[in-house]
Amino acid sequence: LHPEASLVHALRRAAAEAPDRVFLAYFDGRLTYRETDELSDSVAGHLAARGLRPGDRVAVALQNSPHFVLAVLGAWKAGAVVVPVNPMYKAGEVGHVLRDGEVAALICSDRAWEAYLRETAADSPVRIALTACELDFQTRQDARVLSFERLRVTDADDLTEAARAGHRAPGGRDPEPDGIALISYTSGTSGTPKGATNTHRNIMYNAERQRTGLALPAAPVYFALAPLFHITGMVCQFGACLNSAGTLVLAYRFEAGVVLDAFAEHRPHYTVGPSTAFMALAAHPAATREHFASFTVLSSGGAPLPPALVEKFRAGFGPYIRNGYGLTECTAPCASVPPHLEAPVDPASGTLAVGVPGPETVVRIVDDRGAEVPFGEPGEIVVSGPQVVPGYWRRPDATAETFPGGELRTGDIGFMDEHGWLYVVDRKKDMINASGFKVWPREVEDVLYTHPAVREAAVVGVPDGYRGETVKAYISLRPGVAADPDDLAAYCEERLAAYKYPRQVEILPELPKTASGKILRRELRSRADHD
Ligand code: ATP
Repeated sequence: LHPEASLVHALRRAAAEAPDRVFLAYFDGRLTYRETDELSDSVAGHLAARGLRPGDRVAVALQNSPHFVLAVLGAWKAGAVVVPVNPMYKAGEVGHVLRDGEVAALICSDRAWEAYLRETAADSPVRIALTACELDFQTRQDARVLSFERLRVTDADDLTEAARAGHRAPGGRDPEPDGIALISYTSGTSGTPKGATNTHRNIMYNAERQRTGLALPAAPVYFALAPLFHITGMVCQFGACLNSAGTLVLAYRFEAGVVLDAFAEHRPHYTVGPSTAFMALAAHPAATREHFASFTVLSSGGAPLPPALVEKFRAGFGPYIRNGYGLTECTAPCASVPPHLEAPVDPASGTLAVGVPGPETVVRIVDDRGAEVPFGEPGEIVVSGPQVVPGYWRRPDATAETFPGGELRTGDIGFMDEHGWLYVVDRKKDMINASGFKVWPREVEDVLYTHPAVREAAVVGVPDGYRGETVKAYISLRPGVAADPDDLAAYCEERLAAYKYPRQVEILPELPKTASGKILRRELRSRADHD
């Protein structure tokens, strides 16, 4: 694999070779490669003119919009490190990232700036602010034109104005491959977010693997289903699309009806999202086979993929959903299902394989003492390879603990079969200990997903006077379908060992999720604790 040094290099190449090809499609707006190159040069020039220095951190808190892409490319062109921030974060969460990352510049939507970010930034190291008038989700009807014309006067500079002003980009500062490209704060499903330092080389390795490993047509059309501020969207959509000189279709944020319309209009070849996004698409009343007919590859990543969903999706809509496994700390995927193959299901546990490790990637399964376990036996998954980050931002202790000898200790339990397929059993810390028996929530969830009424399922351990912990399932139902909690428990009892089936089942309208679409077992556990 010979990836280019950075996505900035990939942009320059695409702008030279295919200047008039559409790179970004956003509702009725389009930006070509040439325009994207010029506008991001101007953003870089503007940041530099306002005093941003190479190595400074630039936080970008935007949805899936062209502004996000211009902000990231502009910051990289100015030699900065990008800190993607979930735009749904509240003041306290953003404040933590701005201070922890010692962020010099913040690029956000004008609405969020007015509402709370101006105040948050005042209490942080931020000294440069750029706001963008993104398409507002609620008013998309009147904003179907790419909103580069709409300027707004705030005490922050306007991204659009900066892009239009035609500042010359500072010369000679293209990123170095081993420089830090991103400080990606983990989604926090397991505690305070830490910043993983993804280098340009880390990103380019995975972006290149996507190009060579997916067998997509030339100039492919990517749809950004996952949020770009999360590593999967950043690398497997934005990065991989740019590295392939393809077209990236953006739709602000996930809303199933809008996504289906965009599929019909743009006929994408590839998208990746969490399994919950596919569940939502499959449950939408307007979804038809035709919506999915253009896809060469549909990938699920970042969260467990229940085998029953893969089968229901194929039966209902045609495509096979390809599993992939990764973490922020390995810059999105480290194992995926090769094209033309389907992931096997382990006959003993019913677990769907997540894939095989990529080239130059070594996955080992180790016991508590760090010794490798035989094929088929569960242990902690540890990963080394060109996509593994050098460590966490300014956290030497956490870095030493998670990356001993440069290898990533994932905190996930998994096993490998003798053909090299990797299976993820569950997160080490989510194991339920019921009377000394180990219960892995995912196995119970997989069974629940085979029930026709179940839309989403999450299983957690709740305190129990007799067993220590007992198994509780939270369920959301498919629209218009009724189910009785006792029947769902009985359904599991028929299919699982006595200690595994959920003694309690609670039905909720919707399960809590992270912004990247992962079901938050942590939140459900604390809900159970307060019941
Ligand atoms: P935090 O580190 O703050 O807890 P997070 O772990 O959710 O946040 P990510 O790096 O986005 O942050 O998630 C990686 C985790 O997602 C993996 O460790 C694994 O538990 C889970 N995961 C990813 N892909 C899969 C998959 N295909 N099957 C099962 N689990 C997966």
